[in-house]
Amino acid sequence: MTTQEAKYEAYKIASVVLRVMASHEPPVVPNSQDAKAVAKAIMELSDLLALRLPSLRLEAAPEKCVGCEQCAKHCSMSLDVSKMVKTGKMENDECVLCGVCVDGCKQGAIRFTFRTAR
Ligand code: SF4
Ligand code: SF4
Repeated sequence: MTTQEAKYEAYKIASVVLRVMASHEPPVVPNSQDAKAVAKAIMELSDLLALRLPSLRLEAAPEKCVGCEQCAKHCSMSLDVSKMVKTGKMENDECVLCGVCVDGCKQGAIRFTFRTAR
């Protein structure tokens, strides 16, 4: 799960929790300040979970890269994948994990892995 997906899930959870609390008789959330506090707590929790739960990620082996730029050329999100590989920083909020770069790199310099964020 990417950070953006985690935040979206957190918004959904927060809205459900707040709806349930507000429908309670008497309402559990008497004012908007409390509602904001609840939403903030859920958001922070989701950030923690996104960091600590293993998820599908890209991993680079910079030493295998020959700089052919095929990964960057075909990236679905027009990301500078070649640069990401060279710097070893494969985390990018815009990456949709489509795998085009993984399949396209003939040197095997990019692969999928399942792990927590570093
Ligand atoms: S396709 Fe592979 S070898 Fe070519 S630049 Fe990208 S990571 Fe490097
Ligand atoms: S997985 Fe897809 S979106 Fe992500 S860097 Fe590779 S080609 Fe681009």
